[in-house]
Amino acid sequence: MKSYDVAVIGSGPGGYVAAIRCAQLGMTTALIEKYSTLGGTCLNVGCIPSKALLSSSHHYEEATKHFSDHGIDIPGEIKVNLEKMIARKQSVVDQTTGGIDFLMKKNNIDVYEGLGSFIDATHIKIEGKDAGEIEAKNIIIATGSKPSNLPFIELDKERIITSTEALKLKEVPKHMIVIGGGVIGLELGQVYYRLGAQVTVVEYMDRILPTMDAGLSKELNKVFKKAKCKMMMSHKVQSVERKGDEVIVKAENKKGEIVEFKGDYCLVSVGRRPYTDGLNAEAAGVKINERGQVEVNEHLQTSASNVYAIGDVVKGAMLAHKAEEEGVFVAETIAGQKPHIDYNLIPGVVYTWPEVAAVGKTEEELKAEKVEYKVGQFPFRALGRARASGDIDGFVKILADKTTDEVLGVHMIGARCADLIAEAVTAMEFRASAEDISRYSHAHPTFAEAVKEAALAATGNRALHV
Ligand code: FAD
Ligand code: NAD
Repeated sequence: MKSYDVAVIGSGPGGYVAAIRCAQLGMTTALIEKYSTLGGTCLNVGCIPSKALLSSSHHYEEATKHFSDHGIDIPGEIKVNLEKMIARKQSVVDQTTGGIDFLMKKNNIDVYEGLGSFIDATHIKIEGKDAGEIEAKNIIIATGSKPSNLPFIELDKERIITSTEALKLKEVPKHMIVIGGGVIGLELGQVYYRLGAQVTVVEYMDRILPTMDAGLSKELNKVFKKAKCKMMMSHKVQSVERKGDEVIVKAENKKGEIVEFKGDYCLVSVGRRPYTDGLNAEAAGVKINERGQVEVNEHLQTSASNVYAIGDVVKGAMLAHKAEEEGVFVAETIAGQKPHIDYNLIPGVVYTWPEVAAVGKTEEELKAEKVEYKVGQFPFRALGRARASGDIDGFVKILADKTTDEVLGVHMIGARCADLIAEAVTAMEFRASAEDISRYSHAHPTFAEAVKEAALAATGNRALHV
């Protein structure tokens, strides 16, 4: 039986990054993945394919709606070739997962294809292509998550679907009903409304993106409404039924009335659940809590001291970069180092257009924590760069401590915010004040100037261009 310093179960961004860092630190490392391609949810059916379709559909929207504003006239009809768009998405996925194969080889990591399950806390059984048993001094559980469902919905995966099927549809829906106005519902809802589908978003809470700053929800809601999407907030879905090619969704509104929506596809995007099926965690003495998460302490150590868990399968945000940070953290912990993660500084991004991004505390959280704060906000429409490209929607909002001026949260919606948020993370990591940000130079003309202007606004109403 082959023996390793570390075995990692699951090859998503948590698992494969943990494996690389373990190998870099001189540990012999094995990676076990039940599917034939590496990269987990993120690379195969998550971050990468959804961003490929968002990019393709954005190009289509630009070509059909905005090229003429720039003086570009395209003679004839512009058409979507969905089959080609989906094939391109798959080739992006294939290149990216192939890249992980290369990284495993480069770092001398042994990859096993098959379902990994615990025999005990140091032995793993592998069932599948590379069937057998391996031994490891330390084991990292990185088994990720799967889409959750509502108990009364039968997913037929043809017309009542999750994100996984929505990434490979064979036709553009006529009317897609999206249950859940969270990240997946909005990103994939936007893909399909851009391609010509009518989209109805049915959300249980009173706003989309309910965990983000309310100002961002309001602004993105306007964008969806402008695209003629029906945004049904405060609607609790009661039933989903398929009749032939039709899907009927019934939901209860605030007044207690039952409202019916009829479409040809229904995307169920009500969150994801941690995935431990088939892992036999009990055999290693690893506790799973009532939410289905692997229970971990502050070192991401499970109830078995040599077994760690990271990513979507443990508590916290279900984000690829959070999983990656935890992968590095655990590898360094096993190597005897003292790593640190500041969870408050893990940014959240929604890759719609305009993009939505945030880091740190929201106004709602600061109020609840009774922290006194100042707000500096700056609209993109006041930027020369935004007008030049025609992307004037959105704003940057900086929240700073009323007394010390330390930046406590940054919330933004607008062009390129997914990249702009990195400046806010850096500033907060170094505990910058709003005045610090306002005093260093930002190139002109850029979208980043909105960050500087919002910082000026927070430092005492000193924004220069409003
Ligand atoms: P996963 O990526 O889920 O990987 C777990 C792996 O473990 C899987 O490959 C699985 O097959 C394998 N596995 C499970 N059990 C076993 C077993 N017993 N034996 C062997 N292998 C096993 N996050 C972002 O940060 N940005 C985004 O833009 C983004 N977009 C997303 C879009 C969609 C449509 C979805 C669904 C998710 C998106 N996410 C995004 C979330 C992101 O994909 C996850 O947070 C991330 O993949 C979690 O990484 P992980 O390593 O914990 O688990
Ligand atoms: P989510 O938690 O973001 O949103 C789910 C939404 O469904 C919530 O707004 C919730 O109020 C609503 N909901 C729940 N029950 C409902 C009901 N009965 N009726 C109507 N609405 C209901 O979950 P998601 O969009 O499915 O995404 C899953 C995970 O994947 C998230 O944790 C997210 O972090 C991750 N993800 C991230 C990205 C990104 O970083 N850009 C993209 C996609 C997914």
